[in-house]
Amino acid sequence: MALIVQKFGGSSVANAERVFNVASIITDTYKKGNNVVVVVSAQGDTTDDLIEKAKEINPNASKREMDMLLTAGEQISISLLAMAIEKLGCPVISLLGWQAGFRTNSAYGSARIHEVATDRLQKEIDGKKIVIVAGFQGLNKYDDMTTLGRGGSDTSAVAIAAALHADRCQIYTDVTGVFTADPRKVENAQKLKDITYDEMLEFATLGAQVLNNRSVEMAKKYNVELEVLSSLVREEGTIVREVANMEKMLIRGVTKDTDVARISVVGMKDIPGNAFKMFSRLAQKGINIDVILQSVGRDGTKDISFTCAKGNADDAVAILKDIFDMEGAVVSSDTTVAKVSIVGAGMQSHSGTASKMFGALYEAGININMISTSEITISVLIDKEYADKAVSAVHKAFFG
Ligand code: ADP
Ligand code: ASP
Ligand code: MG
Repeated sequence: MALIVQKFGGSSVANAERVFNVASIITDTYKKGNNVVVVVSAQGDTTDDLIEKAKEINPNASKREMDMLLTAGEQISISLLAMAIEKLGCPVISLLGWQAGFRTNSAYGSARIHEVATDRLQKEIDGKKIVIVAGFQGLNKYDDMTTLGRGGSDTSAVAIAAALHADRCQIYTDVTGVFTADPRKVENAQKLKDITYDEMLEFATLGAQVLNNRSVEMAKKYNVELEVLSSLVREEGTIVREVANMEKMLIRGVTKDTDVARISVVGMKDIPGNAFKMFSRLAQKGINIDVILQSVGRDGTKDISFTCAKGNADDAVAILKDIFDMEGAVVSSDTTVAKVSIVGAGMQSHSGTASKMFGALYEAGININMISTSEITISVLIDKEYADKAVSAVHKAFFG
């Protein structure tokens, strides 16, 4: 008998028919003699709809009240799914995040899981019940509900799998696995048989939303093997694990991130310490910096540009104006950019990967504004307008 954790995303439970479809996947697994713990997201676009509703009332609502609102989405889906399973004749119980033992820090909207206290979960499993847990939520030290950030149900599932030492953690979604590019956008995207944690972590962080990046980080830390598969089409998915056995591929995939802003400081004094001053002030505010570009100094001045998440752009500009206005430097932000990246451990042992990517962009007539690389990634910043075209061109160069 195995303990299996199954997670179902919002589109997998979007309507009554889909809820019953998911219920039958769960009961089939249970009837084979397994213990099953299920994590479920809010139905369809519920979370987005709740955010819109909040904006109608108060666009500056506190993060605490936003979390109180957003946790409601998952409360609906767990109870409906449990009702469907009752109807299929299997013993079942639904639990909110706090009932399932999720304790988090107090960062409303992006809370981190401190622990999953498993007593209640274990009691229900021992009582032979299928347990349905609300994803994306927990409880902080003030006994207030928190949420884990968008796409956080993946992390809830991995946390439960780690805490219960589950035998399998299956992430069911609306595509049949992890592909070399978003299969909804890129013709010829190919399904990967497997991918390493490190590659998947970069892929997710750079925009492949099929898995939440924090869930991959946690899966790596606790060595939880993930299987990404479809709730609608019953076929083999993609395995995410430490070592991927697939025959060597130069790169695993191409992705884009449009949640990017470029911040530029033009004409700052070319003296030691300016970069330190600017990035330490940004770090103090918790602003994550990505690609950085510094120009060669000329006439005693230099320019520095970097990228950050769009949501941080206004704060970053205000901080930098505060530092550099006095020296006459010009601070600006640009949100019409996108980052296009390739990911793959294979590039470490092959030369010419960057030139292949840049060649594809050149042939598509796309200008590169900034470039950054790591051991297993190459990213370019381009005009947002050309992001999809760039992904397709680069994908074609590597995958045909
Ligand atoms: P869920 O609601 O199940 O959590 P998400 O919408 O978060 O599902 O993630 C699934 C979506 O991720 C797919 O519908 C697909 O369009 C998108 N996606 C982006 N990049 C990739 C990729 N490389 N492989 C598979 N899916 C991808
Ligand atoms: N419902 C939440 C969201 O839409 C969590 C999730 O789907 O993983 O972000
Ligand atoms: Mg998701």
